[in-house]
Amino acid sequence: MYRRDSDELQAARAQLVSYSARLLADGLAVGSAGNMSVRAGDLVAITPSGIGYDDMRPGDVCLVTLDGTQLPDGTGPEGQETPSSETPMHLAIYAATGAAAVVHTHSPEVIALSASRSELPAIHYAITGLGGPVRVAPYVRFGSAGLAAAAVEALDGRSAVILRNHGAVTYGRDLAQAYDRALLLEWLARTYRLALCYGEPAILSAAELDEVTAEARRRRYGERRSGHSGRGGHSGRGDRGDRGGDRGRPSSRP
Ligand SMILES: [Zn+2]
Repeated sequence: MYRRDSDELQAARAQLVSYSARLLADGLAVGSAGNMSVRAGDLVAITPSGIGYDDMRPGDVCLVTLDGTQLPDGTGPEGQETPSSETPMHLAIYAATGAAAVVHTHSPEVIALSASRSELPAIHYAITGLGGPVRVAPYVRFGSAGLAAAAVEALDGRSAVILRNHGAVTYGRDLAQAYDRALLLEWLARTYRLALCYGEPAILSAAELDEVTAEARRRRYGERRSGHSGRGGHSGRGDRGDRGGDRGRPSSRP
C-alpha cells in the first residue's frame, strides 16, 4: 500500500495541477470541465469535482483506492474535496488496461465529430499513435457506470476513445503521454473536419497503418528520452494501446 504522503503521490498531485492549467490553455476544456488522474501503485490521484483549474492546489487533488474508496486528506484547512464525478470511468480504465494516467477532455473538435460520426477515421498516419481509428462510444450520462463500461469497450486496442455528445478520454504510461494523446486526438479531429471541406477525403487503409506501425517500431520512435516532461514515470507498465506503435510521442515522428 502506498502512503498517501509518498513522494510519488505528492509528485502526481503537483503534476495534475500543472496539467490542469494546460487543459484550459490548450482549449481542451473550459471552467472545471474534464478531469485527469495518475495511478501510483494501488492508489489513484484524481482531480477534484467542481474546482476551477485556475484555483486548484495540490492539496485539492483527491486520493482514491482502485475500488473507489476515498482516502482521508487532511492537507488543507478547507477540508476534503470530492473526487471527480468521472472517477468510476477512470478506475474502470485502470482495471481494464495498463494505464498509469488518464485524461478526460471536453474538447470541441471531438465533441462536434461525435455528434454525427461513429469513428474518427485514419485521415493521417499519426493516428497509429492512438492504436488506429478512434471509436465513438455511445452516449451514456456523465458519471455513470454505464459510461465507464462504454468507454472501456470502445478502448479495445486503442489508447483513446471519443464519448458521444460529451468529450474524449486518453490514457498513457504517464500523464505526459496521456496528455499528448489528448492533444493528438483533438488535432486529428480538426484535420479530418478540414479535409471534409474539400469533399470526400482519402482514408488510410489498415495495411497502410500497419506499415507505419512497423516502420515506427523499426526506427524506435517514441523511445523515451531522459529529461522528458513526465516526472516519475511508470515505464515498466504495459500499455494495451501499444499495438499501434504508440509508445512514443507522436510529435517525434516525421
Ligand atoms: Zn466529462
